[in-house]
Amino acid sequence: EKGRLLFAGPVTFVKGVVAMSGLPPADRIEVCFAGRSNVGKSSLINALTGRKTLARASNTPGRTQEINYFALGDGRAQPEKYLVDLPGYGYAEAPVAIVAKWQALLKQYLSGRQTLRRAFVLVDTRHGVKSVDDEIMQLLDRSAVAFQVVLTKADKVSMAERLATIEQVKGALAKHPAAYPELVVTSSEKGDGIETLRAIVAGLE
Ligand code: GDP
Repeated sequence: EKGRLLFAGPVTFVKGVVAMSGLPPADRIEVCFAGRSNVGKSSLINALTGRKTLARASNTPGRTQEINYFALGDGRAQPEKYLVDLPGYGYAEAPVAIVAKWQALLKQYLSGRQTLRRAFVLVDTRHGVKSVDDEIMQLLDRSAVAFQVVLTKADKVSMAERLATIEQVKGALAKHPAAYPELVVTSSEKGDGIETLRAIVAGLE
């Protein structure tokens, strides 16, 4: 498979981080993936890396609150990139104190990581941009972190619904200076857009 060559080196779990002090040294560039709980983030990371179980579902106890670092080998360049799986946000069932802690960490990370090259903000194709997504985007604007929206679960909707969501998202992005106007439409289930996303990640320097 052609796309696999983009991350030809090993993709490995590095560590789970619960506080800024635990971040690995900022000695290579990284990309992060953010999104509401259940948006399909674990599935997307697994599809992207060609691993079935690299990123665990966000409802796995113990890993939800962590920022998970993966090393993405490209088989040539050293050092590798980091792929960063952020805790899902907007999870209503979690206790308020826990939510506040995740949010604080998320905000500290997004505003304070020098080596963060691009944030991918995942949005469910069925739902479009919600107010919690917009808050994250505002934070990325303020922190001058370039971000790109990845629509997930595109296979779950009709073409008409897909186009309607694309319009809604583009409208929402217009007021975010840090946003890339191009969306990546994906289905981890069907593989749509995965190759495109891999190429984007592989091309970042
Ligand atoms: P996370 O909480 O954001 O990590 O979301 P998960 O990756 O665990 O996915 C949440 C649910 O959506 C699971 O039941 C997945 O099987 C499902 N899902 C994720 N991606 C897709 C997709 O591309 N298509 C479909 N049909 N279902 C998906």
